[in-house]
Amino acid sequence: MEKEKLYGKTLSELAIVVSKEGLPAYTAKQIAGWLYKRGVADIKSMTDLSIKAREIIDEHYEIGLTSPSSESKSSDGTKKYLFRVLHDRFIETAYIPDRERATICVSSQSGCRMGCRFCMTARQGFQGDLTSNEILNQFRSIPEHSSLTNIVYMGMGEPLDNLEEVLRSLEILTSPWGYGWSPGRITVSTVGINDMLKSFLDSTKCNLAVSLHSPFDNERQDLMPVQKAHPVKEVIDTIRSFDFGRQRRVSFEYIVFKGMNDTPLHIKEMARLLNGIRCRVNLIRFHTVPGSDYQSPGMDEMIRFRDMLNNKGITATVRASRGEDINAACGLLSTLKQNKG
Ligand code: SF4
Repeated sequence: MEKEKLYGKTLSELAIVVSKEGLPAYTAKQIAGWLYKRGVADIKSMTDLSIKAREIIDEHYEIGLTSPSSESKSSDGTKKYLFRVLHDRFIETAYIPDRERATICVSSQSGCRMGCRFCMTARQGFQGDLTSNEILNQFRSIPEHSSLTNIVYMGMGEPLDNLEEVLRSLEILTSPWGYGWSPGRITVSTVGINDMLKSFLDSTKCNLAVSLHSPFDNERQDLMPVQKAHPVKEVIDTIRSFDFGRQRRVSFEYIVFKGMNDTPLHIKEMARLLNGIRCRVNLIRFHTVPGSDYQSPGMDEMIRFRDMLNNKGITATVRASRGEDINAACGLLSTLKQNKG
């Protein structure tokens, strides 16, 4: 019989485990400490639990960590890991070192049902939600784990479409009994599912990134079908009505497609849309993917667009392209692996 995984459980879930096994309530906090602070790889190493308690837990549970199945390294130091999930699917995790920062980009679903037209992950369709165990395992099981400074939920999948497991993983990352990370080091990126966004904003203090890609309804809907059910104007109204305080950051991700969404009209409309919101716009150069009609702009076009936005009072930066030599477009590597079987 398959054992239940302990890694990825919150303190209250561990409390249920110990109560079910007839162990003292304080054992839950001890186990959380071993899982998230001391990082043990097996239950036998939890040495402040009695031998009997360890035997009882070991009978039905395992730690539940999984090593990556493959690794690709870019000449710029970026790495992409593939993890096997749901028996025969692969999810991508990126490790991005940048001077004193070391960021991990985690996936929250296998495939995705949002159907963004420019995205390789969308072409895989939706395979399943990742559990809190599978989300956090990406963070815990890469060799660079101990050097990580930031986490972004920007890999495969839409985090707010798997909100329960994402919130569980964020609770473990930010709680004093868990990893104790500051929420300011964590960013969750979403296409903007308005009702889930409200729950996310109320439940955590982590930073928010919203995929904008166009300020015009029709154009955005062509790029991102989610626009029909959740117009970005409503998403922005939610953001505008929420008190982010001084620490919590909001940013908008904007993939620039050559000759399409980088005109003066786009700048004017973005200024109108984002008016009054303390935010940053991250410009991302589109990476051409196989079979796509969209084109990559040149760096000169990116800089020109950034400068025009800045002149209009919108804080915009060009995000450096990383790992272009290792199939940087999210979903490309796992699609290739899945197609190979
Ligand atoms: S861009 Fe993100 S939300 Fe859109 S289909 Fe791809 S993974 Fe899903």
